Amino acid sequence: MGYRQQVDNYDVLIIGAGSSGCAIAARVSEDPNLHVALVEAGPDYERLQDTPDDLVNSHNNSYSDHDWGFVYEPTNGRKDRFPRGRVVGGSSAVNTTIALRGMPEDYDEWAAQGNPSWTWQEVLPGFKRLERDLDFPDASYHGDSGPITIRRYPPAEMVKQQQAFLDSAEELGYPYCADANDPDGYGAGPHPMNKLGRLRISAAVGYLASARIRPNLDVLADTLTRRLITENGRCCGVEVENSAGEVRVIKANLVVLSAGALMSPAILVRSGIGAKSLVESLGVELVADMPGVGENLSDHPALGVICEVNDASLIDFDQPIIQTILRYTAQDGKKRNDLQIEQISFAGRPGGAPMFMLAPVLEYQYGRGRLTFSSANPKQAPGIENRFCEDSRDASRLAECVRDTLAFTQTGALAEMVKSVTFPDLNRGVAQEDLENLCRKFSGSGYHPCGTAKMGPTKDAMAVVDHKGRCHKVTQLVVADASIMPSVPRANTNLTCFMIGEQIGEWIRTNKSDYGL
Ligand SMILES: Cc1cc2nc3c(=O)[nH]c(=O)nc-3n(C[C@H](O)[C@H](O)[C@H](O)COP(=O)(O)OP(=O)(O)OC[C@H]3O[C@@H](n4cnc5c(N)ncnc54)[C@H](O)[C@@H]3O)c2cc1C
Repeated sequence: MGYRQQVDNYDVLIIGAGSSGCAIAARVSEDPNLHVALVEAGPDYERLQDTPDDLVNSHNNSYSDHDWGFVYEPTNGRKDRFPRGRVVGGSSAVNTTIALRGMPEDYDEWAAQGNPSWTWQEVLPGFKRLERDLDFPDASYHGDSGPITIRRYPPAEMVKQQQAFLDSAEELGYPYCADANDPDGYGAGPHPMNKLGRLRISAAVGYLASARIRPNLDVLADTLTRRLITENGRCCGVEVENSAGEVRVIKANLVVLSAGALMSPAILVRSGIGAKSLVESLGVELVADMPGVGENLSDHPALGVICEVNDASLIDFDQPIIQTILRYTAQDGKKRNDLQIEQISFAGRPGGAPMFMLAPVLEYQYGRGRLTFSSANPKQAPGIENRFCEDSRDASRLAECVRDTLAFTQTGALAEMVKSVTFPDLNRGVAQEDLENLCRKFSGSGYHPCGTAKMGPTKDAMAVVDHKGRCHKVTQLVVADASIMPSVPRANTNLTCFMIGEQIGEWIRTNKSDYGL
């Protein structure tokens, strides 16, 4: 620690070294006069050569070695595992590396709900700043010098079933889309991905590798945040616990909560910031009555159409799990690109029947779920109730997407690979009503929870933070991660989390007085 600047009161303390938290730490610490702490419950691997393979190898997700072990209830009564990264890099360090932007209208909708800094025109500079797009560096809507490298698999590197998916898409009449991040993009093509070879360009790799050398940035790993410390309505630090069970308080002028859409609300509630009845039922002293904390859970309901294949040599669990995407619009045409279909190169288990999967995903969700809390214990996981497809507009469009997915198993190059569809059981019917029932019963999460501490104006009683991420009722407290999205964008959420970190990080650094610094 010799060259480090010792402080006992940080200017900015960020809780959670995930997608948003790392981006904020990197941007804010560009100012050498700001002392920044990045506090993370999971471990830190400073050097690539010391990083475990599950975090490096982006050909598949990491589900267990760096995971919180959460369980969720996607539809009434069903329980399943809900992965979340617990490591410096957060969920970006364990994910599939799909690097997709939402539709411009998603961000315009956020702005229309009273968040004026989030129109597409205003978030576009953040999206450009975060990326180094190797394929389209000159496009007006792309960046070519950001920390997150993005590329698309060329035909020569395509797994056979991924290429077959694109061929069948063409036969089904979908246009080819070379860049799914083109704001006008539509159709099937290669996925933009933040990986280089196998290497996952996580927030730890992209943002922290270069920032962590700064003497004004401390990365405090293996450090669980138990609760926020508040005095007279002002946040002034955090109570943390290290892996040896030692508890201490770290003081800060500004606390930024970036623990993700499941843990940020949990930390708020056990710090006394949440619905009065809930906070008091947990035996916690009320700091601010905020009924929106933990509500408005938004995500992408999805299904897996599992296929046994004719040729076992197609299935190799060491191949890239995904390479392609189809973005398209439901028949009612109300929301552009509200549906997505992806080809998953392998399914089941190595040594089992040779299988791959197609995933129909609902990208624009009307329904909402919620988080529940039964204890103030900082190690207690929140309950996660998604209530997928209870809204009929969701069930009908996801059913449509399942039907369109089944067409791939019957058309062209992909159909030739399929021996049988093992899920869903087609004998149970494929009429619209049958498929809607299927979605209501079996849909699961795309692993994109957000919205649980949403931003909005004070007149919206369910809004937790304002459009700059500042908590409405507790000063010197910012929330900046997937929690603040008012609704899930029509895209996998990682890039939008980076963008949130880019925007709020820049605002803190360049408009300090807005954040009481
Ligand atoms: C298996 C999987 C695959 C996915 N695939 C993709 C994909 O391909 N493309 C895509 O766009 N999105 C994908 N996602 C979603 C995407 O990764 C997330 O939306 C995004 O990373 C969330 O960013 P965040 O900053 O909100 O939270 P996170 O990145 O989850 O960061 C939160 C951080 O806070 C830490 N933390 C939590 N509680 C505490 C505490 N009490 N004290 C200290 N630290 C704490 C966590 O350990 C974590 O590091 C995937 C997610 C998963 C899990």
